[in-house]
Amino acid sequence: MPFAKRRDGASRPWRLSAKLLIVFALVTVIGFSAICVSVMLEMRRGEEELARQALENLASSIDADIGRNVELYDLSLRDVATDMQLPEINQVSRPLRQLILFDHAATAKHFGVIQVFDAAGRLTVDASTLDPIPEDRSDEEYFKIHLQNPDLGLFISRPILHHGAYAIVLSRRITGEDGRFLGVVAGSIRFSYFHELFGRLKLGPNDIISVFRKDGTVIMRTPFDLDMIGKNLGDLPTVKRVMSEPSGSYTGISYSTHRPRLYVWRDSTRPLVVLVGKQWSDIYELWRMEMTRIGALMSALILFVLGVTLFLAREIGRRAAAEDKLEELATTDALTGLRNRRKFDAVIDAEWRRAARQRKPVALLMIDADYFKTYNDTFGHQAGDELLVGIAICISDSVQRAGDCVARYGGEEFAILLPGLSPAEALGVAETIRLKVEQWCGESAITTVSVGVASLVPGGSADWNRLVKAADQALYAAKASGRNRCVLAGASNLSLVA
Ligand code: GH3
Ligand code: MG
Ligand code: MG
Repeated sequence: MPFAKRRDGASRPWRLSAKLLIVFALVTVIGFSAICVSVMLEMRRGEEELARQALENLASSIDADIGRNVELYDLSLRDVATDMQLPEINQVSRPLRQLILFDHAATAKHFGVIQVFDAAGRLTVDASTLDPIPEDRSDEEYFKIHLQNPDLGLFISRPILHHGAYAIVLSRRITGEDGRFLGVVAGSIRFSYFHELFGRLKLGPNDIISVFRKDGTVIMRTPFDLDMIGKNLGDLPTVKRVMSEPSGSYTGISYSTHRPRLYVWRDSTRPLVVLVGKQWSDIYELWRMEMTRIGALMSALILFVLGVTLFLAREIGRRAAAEDKLEELATTDALTGLRNRRKFDAVIDAEWRRAARQRKPVALLMIDADYFKTYNDTFGHQAGDELLVGIAICISDSVQRAGDCVARYGGEEFAILLPGLSPAEALGVAETIRLKVEQWCGESAITTVSVGVASLVPGGSADWNRLVKAADQALYAAKASGRNRCVLAGASNLSLVA
């Protein structure tokens, strides 16, 4: 017969501790991961902020340089335009006129020569020579635009081939006292200026700087792309936004690499607007490397913690199983697999107190094999053992409820605790057992059992010994009245019968 299963269903502290260990490890891992993720996200935000600031500074410094040069050159054009309004200017000698017009004019490596064209577009004055070669610029865009727009002020042309080099032409209208169109003063800033300016900067391979005219025309771009120079991108929503907001930033897809880029501009109120861009993948490069390193470390740590936790939980489980086995061995009768006397005493004590709290009855059956000594003496001790196992199986088969406790009380005597059963119900169970043993032994009538039944509702100071005594007395009564019968403890010998 297999060992009886634990019926009390009590959960052991170890089970809790193994589960707690796993929960604790999981909470720790999740907690650390959450902290790690939040720190990494914070670092990512920091990288973004740093990149934005760096781009803003870059845009500001390029803006300032271009703005200063355009302003300086424009001042010279403005001076010439003002001086050309003087009626006397055409009456003085050429060298003197040259001195009056260009003495204070800004000259620099990348500034082209300042020229004055009359109302018909013919070259009249050239800052570089007293005898200029005749030129006609009446077809040029900058000439026509000044002719048609008296209040235009400074006009910056699209990039054009000017005097053999790519340049932007800056021009102003010369207006007479009476508002008459007297001509145009024009000068140029060569592309070499932008090349030199951008060459001084330390840029990443995917960084971009674009210089736009206010209408969205690309004036200059680095990396240099001739196809893009002079293109009008004014219809693009992003370019429109750059021109309408004084400063700001946006994420756009790169025209050349097709990858997302952060674009920043600082001052779109100037005649030339600078837009700088950096690829997001470059911005996050350091962060990504750091994240990979920390992520790998964290993963290794998590795997280690989970591994150790599972190992410990398994060890706890093994140890608990061994403890369970030991306890089962210590509380089980080796021959029949039923609970032993020690366990029975513990169970009856607990059930008695529970019944006292709940004011419910608790029933006890004391079962004793009849004439067992004779059987033993006739068939031998080993046959007697087998008979005891058979009786135990008959009893176990008759008692099914989870709270019931079947024990070998000693020798050929068994005890069954039936919590909650009234005397009549307990007597019914006793009768079932008796009949089952009788049936099992069959015609040969090897043995039968006598059963003493008692059921009490605990009360006052009475302890469970009273119940045992009552059942014992009933068993003796069964024996005395002929054996193979069940006797219920009567009210005469039990004051607390339910
Ligand atoms: P009664 O009907 O009055 O109960 O008579 P009985 O012979 O059954 O009672 P008694 O108490 O005189 O004898 C009990 C016998 O049970 C004595 C002992 O040899 C036998 N016994 C006790 N424990 C074991 C055991 O573990 N195995 C075997 N085979 N016999 C046992
Ligand atoms: Mg007996
Ligand atoms: Mg006996």
